[in-house]
Amino acid sequence: MSGFPEFIYRNNELCAESVPLKQIAAEFGTPCYVYSRSALTKAYQEFDAAFAGRDHLICYAVKANSNIAILNLFAQLGSGFDIVSGGELWRVMKAGGNPQKTVFSGVGKNTDEMRMALDANILCFNVESEAELSTLNQVAQTMQKIAPVSLRVNPDVDAKTHPYISTGLKENKFGMPINEAERIYLSTHRYPHIRFTGLDCHIGSQLTEIEPFMQASEKILNLLNNLKSQGLEIEHLDLGGGLGIRYTHETPPSIKDYVSALCARTGHIKQRLLIEPGRALVGNSGILLTQTEYLKHTPARNFAIVDAAMNDLMRPALYDAYHEILPVIKRNGDVQNYQIVGPVCETGDFLGHDRKLSLNSGDLLAVMSAGAYGMSMSSNYNTRPRAAEIMIDQDTIHVIRQRETIDQLTANERILP
Ligand SMILES: *Cc1c(COP(=O)(O)O)cnc(C)c1O
Repeated sequence: MSGFPEFIYRNNELCAESVPLKQIAAEFGTPCYVYSRSALTKAYQEFDAAFAGRDHLICYAVKANSNIAILNLFAQLGSGFDIVSGGELWRVMKAGGNPQKTVFSGVGKNTDEMRMALDANILCFNVESEAELSTLNQVAQTMQKIAPVSLRVNPDVDAKTHPYISTGLKENKFGMPINEAERIYLSTHRYPHIRFTGLDCHIGSQLTEIEPFMQASEKILNLLNNLKSQGLEIEHLDLGGGLGIRYTHETPPSIKDYVSALCARTGHIKQRLLIEPGRALVGNSGILLTQTEYLKHTPARNFAIVDAAMNDLMRPALYDAYHEILPVIKRNGDVQNYQIVGPVCETGDFLGHDRKLSLNSGDLLAVMSAGAYGMSMSSNYNTRPRAAEIMIDQDTIHVIRQRETIDQLTANERILP
């Protein structure tokens, strides 16, 4: 057992659905990302089914993995989208996603992005400051439009996650304090080109407990109630994303339990519920496939130098994140303690520390749970072309992103005349 339902061993060979990873490496090279269509579909359907009869919209957080094949798959399943840039809106539209099911988050939307989103008639702007609201009002005025808006409230709850991915504490840059949001909601007359349609929060990522979500919901519901008593009717509640996944020993609530808890907590109100899951939809639906280049035994440590690096998967370097690393072919050799590192010239360039593996050079490894914040955070550091992306659909292999070429890397650069 690998512990990842769509990535399982058959005859000691790790497969993605029905396809041996060895075959993918042979045909398309390494490093490459490999996704399972079935895993993506099941995750979406689990979210959707858990809402039961409740009026809802799942807005997939595009930044977790923005490949247009993945966006298209979710769009076909009925998903909406949560975007944080004009570029992501462009991707959603290119993938056949519906702008009218799209919400626009982020603290620093510029006027070009606002115009693009107003042109596309998106569902809602999740506005994070009064300054942004005022700018949006002006942009909408020049376009003779009314911008639909949720204010993003910072509920000041501890998400109990890594500090770099915690967003709902009062010292974070995200959202606005509840009392300030209330004041702004009730000053609609100052913003004639804004219509307040929703109420929004997002408290962080990789949450492994339900309690912080409940605390945030509580505060949002209070504000909703206050606004109602002062005559402002809000149409939807956006409770953000952030549900964690299992990378190793975490025990996050199931998708079903998480959604059921949100539905139960908001069972007494009629507003439509929006959520913005990213990681929980894609994280365990993808792996990073890499080949061992060299084994290097020093007096202090054993290194396995692999062909994937921090530019391909930044999470270990950035957050000291843990990803399980599995051999693609199980072998019964001598197990040693390895530091799994890439070729990039940084000490922070590692994929895993202290992994007990039996390895030969040339062996393939699968870095698990790499579907979220893997490819989307990749870079060309050390002038490394970005990895290919492959989608497996049962026994069929689809290339959903070609490996980048070195030519492409310098295509926009010019030497002085
Ligand atoms: C990143 C982000 C999400 C998605 O977070 P996950 O932890 O991947 O579910 C949702 N909403 C907003 C506003 C975000 O910034």
